[in-house]
Amino acid sequence: MARTRRPLIAGNWKMNGLTSDALALAKDVAAGVSQAGWTDRELLVCPPATLVMAVAGAAKGSGLLVGGQNCHAKANGAHTGDISAEMLKDAGASHVIVGHSERRSDCGETDAIVRAKAQAAWRAGLMPIVCIGETLAEREGGKTLAVLETQLKGSVPAGSMAAKLVVAYEPVWAIGTGKTPTVDEVAAAHAHIRKVLGSLMSDASGVRLLYGGSVKGSNAAELLAAGDVDGALVGGASLNAAEFLAIAKAV
Ligand code: PEP
Repeated sequence: MARTRRPLIAGNWKMNGLTSDALALAKDVAAGVSQAGWTDRELLVCPPATLVMAVAGAAKGSGLLVGGQNCHAKANGAHTGDISAEMLKDAGASHVIVGHSERRSDCGETDAIVRAKAQAAWRAGLMPIVCIGETLAEREGGKTLAVLETQLKGSVPAGSMAAKLVVAYEPVWAIGTGKTPTVDEVAAAHAHIRKVLGSLMSDASGVRLLYGGSVKGSNAAELLAAGDVDGALVGGASLNAAEFLAIAKAV
């Protein structure tokens, strides 16, 4: 069946990469994207902030998109060590990940903070990728769908529309562990996310919902074929160009 939403395969490089290896990786991914000439899917890499400008330069003209991994809610000011959405845009980013579980746990980011960051992304002209996902204890306690609903209602700003929002469902227990939910569990979570989005906005059917958590070349086809899955947010496997491109090919 033809997809109505253009899939997005996003790589989150996390705190990995120095100039030489990151640029080599970016060039390899960009070459693969350029060679494939995809118009039916988008590929995005989110390097550390120090490398956004260089990676954007390496990706130029290839079709590969570049994003940030986080931003501050404010445009500028006395926030030592932070980076604004405007700065990411200025460096060549088109997207920014907000509310990744590692930032929620490492930095205490709440839904309200994530929502403010998504609004900052809009202010700067960036597409926010809002991350949500349950912990293992929450899943085992049967609370997954309720947790996703609470996170969505708290993190997705009022005034959202499909053209300005991507949501990534990332079960915390599946990130970097090699474990994944079953295809049915992914489909159930995504169906619930779309239903909740329907109560928050008028064109929820157009929002792209990414699955994230231990996606690799060998499981991508199955996970990407699950109901309501419109792409993937990929951590570890995005650090290898061939593996990342294999995930994109599996769409
Ligand atoms: C992530 O960090 O967003 C992620 C999904 O990581 P991994 O693919 O390594 O599980």
